[in-house]
Amino acid sequence: MLQCLRRLPNSLQLGVTMARIMGAYKRDREPWIVGYSGGKDSTAVVKLLFQTLLRVRGDRKPVTIIYCDTGVEIPLASSLARRALRGLEREAKVFDLPIRTRILSPPVYERFFVKVIGRGYPPPTDKFRWCTDRLRIDPVSRFLEAEQMESATVVLGVRESESATRQLTLIQNRTDDRFWNKQRGALNRRLFMPILDYSIQDVWQVNLLIDRPRSLRAKEVANLYADAAAECPTVRDIKGAPCGKARFGCWTCTVAKHGVTLRNLISHGEHRLEPLLRYRLWLEKERNDPRNRWPTRRNGAPGFGPMTLEWRRVALHKLLKSQEQSGLNLISAEEVSEIHKEWKADDKK
Ligand code: SF4
Repeated sequence: MLQCLRRLPNSLQLGVTMARIMGAYKRDREPWIVGYSGGKDSTAVVKLLFQTLLRVRGDRKPVTIIYCDTGVEIPLASSLARRALRGLEREAKVFDLPIRTRILSPPVYERFFVKVIGRGYPPPTDKFRWCTDRLRIDPVSRFLEAEQMESATVVLGVRESESATRQLTLIQNRTDDRFWNKQRGALNRRLFMPILDYSIQDVWQVNLLIDRPRSLRAKEVANLYADAAAECPTVRDIKGAPCGKARFGCWTCTVAKHGVTLRNLISHGEHRLEPLLRYRLWLEKERNDPRNRWPTRRNGAPGFGPMTLEWRRVALHKLLKSQEQSGLNLISAEEVSEIHKEWKADDKK
């Protein structure tokens, strides 16, 4: 099992990282939650953690690996992540590791299409990025509340070299230990970032050379996101540029420009995604047309308000058409029914 580790040219760095994880795991009394997106950085963290747990002797506290399915994940990425988690649970059992996995989702009234097509939120931009909290961050907070975890340590695959903005946010929330941050807005949570000092090359080395857990198939992640730059965050502290550049996010994302991920996947033969790309580009274009917006805000204040009801009806029609053309599940019956409720409320105004 460890053959691969011995082949690593920078095995020293790997040993240092695992010692860092081991030390933190043993010292820290809080429950551990690991944010997993299926992307390269969180995959590396889960692999390192799995390897570390194999070496822990004595008492081992449980570790929960969470994946947030927003409902608008890129379908291929979502099925890859779900399959990885199922396999991970099985492997953890085989090695008697205290790992459990959970898939979190936003409640139906918070989902992307209910907000955009139902309530009339404009598709998100860098300046009005209303989605990250609702789709990715709040489900984690709800999970912690439901589990009655008054305090917890959140383990993340955040790296300093991701971007200047990321670096700045990390510095602002730094503690005495470089690898631990406070979590802004949540005093009872701390962030542990064991690969903070890694380059992209380091991450791929870990991913491609550590063999267990086998269910986390790094080559598939690499094929899907050959040039992935970032992942949409799952905690408040790392808001900033990353979502804008995220390749590992929602297929509807109009913050990342021009649907790069979808184009990339289509150019690699995933033609089922063509209707999704057309819809995503349409959202981006339509958002900027003032004729599609109420002339005032919901509260009557000056400034553009929600997308018009006419536009929302067209948006649902086009989405259902894209669903039919692609053969992929893009919206649930529950969401459609919630959208109709929202329309009814706005119709009366
Ligand atoms: S990937 Fe884009 S749409 Fe999804 S939560 Fe992040 S910024 Fe919002």
